[in-house]
Amino acid sequence: MDKLAVLKEYFGYTSFRGGQEQLIDCILSGRDLLGVMPTGAGKSLCFQVPALCMPGVTLVVSPLISLMKDQVMALKQAGVAAAFLNSSLNERQFPKAIANMKQGMYKIIYVAPERLLTPGFLDACAGLRIDLVAVDEAHCISRWGQDFRPSYTRIPEFLEKLPRRPVVAAFTATATPEVRADIRDQLGLRDPFLLVTGFDRPNLRFSVEKPRDKRKALFDFVDARQNQCGIVYCQTRKQVEEVSAFLCESGFSATRYHAGLSDEERRLNQDSFVYDECRIAVATNAFGMGIDKSDVRYVLHYNMPLDLESYYQEAGRAGRDGEPADCLLLYSARDLQTARFLIEKSRENTAQTDPVLAAELTARAMERLAIMSGYCETPGCLRGYILNYFGEAGPESCENCANCLRAAQRAELGLDNMDRDNELFRRLQHLRGEIAREQNVPAFVVFSDASLRDMCKKLPMSMDSFMMVSGVGRRKQQAYGAEFLREIRAFVRDKGM
Ligand code: ADP
Ligand code: MG
Repeated sequence: MDKLAVLKEYFGYTSFRGGQEQLIDCILSGRDLLGVMPTGAGKSLCFQVPALCMPGVTLVVSPLISLMKDQVMALKQAGVAAAFLNSSLNERQFPKAIANMKQGMYKIIYVAPERLLTPGFLDACAGLRIDLVAVDEAHCISRWGQDFRPSYTRIPEFLEKLPRRPVVAAFTATATPEVRADIRDQLGLRDPFLLVTGFDRPNLRFSVEKPRDKRKALFDFVDARQNQCGIVYCQTRKQVEEVSAFLCESGFSATRYHAGLSDEERRLNQDSFVYDECRIAVATNAFGMGIDKSDVRYVLHYNMPLDLESYYQEAGRAGRDGEPADCLLLYSARDLQTARFLIEKSRENTAQTDPVLAAELTARAMERLAIMSGYCETPGCLRGYILNYFGEAGPESCENCANCLRAAQRAELGLDNMDRDNELFRRLQHLRGEIAREQNVPAFVVFSDASLRDMCKKLPMSMDSFMMVSGVGRRKQQAYGAEFLREIRAFVRDKGM
């Protein structure tokens, strides 16, 4: 069957979404690929459709048991012979599934990475024609990513053990350019086609607030949105309990969700949100991996997440239908302490088995945390900050984040942005001149005008956000960061920004 027939026949859709067709064609032509598309873009179809066009079997490596289950269920519903092999199968079910697999009963097999190298699975694979191995959530292979899973690093070993190397297609929603390169190398992709679709979600309005009283800020926010659905993310289970109790006592219909509840209650609570019995879901980051509710009108973070990838993924659950939605982060210095504590705790856990790895992961986690807190502190465009982080150029002014809207308001009030930028530009030029004279080099060797302009635009407040200025590498950050930051901070203070 050709791809359009498969699309209609099994999935009921008549046209592909942006990027899907290119990736499908690539797989069908036999070439490896890396597809980077935001959550909800439709990555699953990019491997499911070719799986059904090709004569052999497709393996899908996926890290989450619940996700595998949902997808296999959906495929079966669509009439596709699919199965999953993971730790949720018991001692009778697993060999049965392997036996079925050997007999060629499955077209698409979801497999947990830890299962790949088990003798039973390898044996079953040896007798099959495997055309495609799809690696979902491929960022899990990278130590640079926020969700590193050691078992992912053994995928190449598995591929080598196969009688014939299949096409390998990797997919992820959250990958910085560094992580992308890492996925390609670690996974051993061969001349892969890279597709990155835009990460911008123009309908999301981003804002950060530092309220003295978070409860009051939360109350005011949800009170103004009584008949809208929203998610309130908290850092810890304890906080989920407190915040959901507070909302219920205040007369809102809120439900709670975290990994400490029974499976039964989690399912009930999730359903009551999905089916609109409860307007507000208060949850830890355990919530949302599987849900596809398109009319979430706001995502409020009661605490700062540990990294910008997680933040964007969670905030991105708002406004899937393309209608306007709010993403508000309530930030406090306490959040930073809690985050450090959590990172330290996870370091201690890993250190018991692998101290070297623990040190490396902790260093990375701290870098990501600094970038996250930079987001909370930047007076520049919030959308631009996020997009830059994902390697995309942000707009000059997005006109739909709290900082840009505030700036526009100030401009209307007579405080002209152009003048402001020019004034800062002159101050930075002056500083650059002094440094250049001191070091006896031409000024542009210190920083180009374009870099100074970018500083005026981004207004970095920390060493980490300074790194995001165009033209600033590690060495220049270290050599000049402190002085330029001091000047920028002084300017921001002088202007009362
Ligand atoms: P991702 O893995 O990129 O987050 P999914 O594969 O889970 O996204 O798809 C998100 C939703 O989009 C699903 O409900 C899926 O059925 C739907 N979808 C995917 N492709 C299409 C398409 N071509 N037309 C209509 N809906 C689609
Ligand atoms: Mg997916």
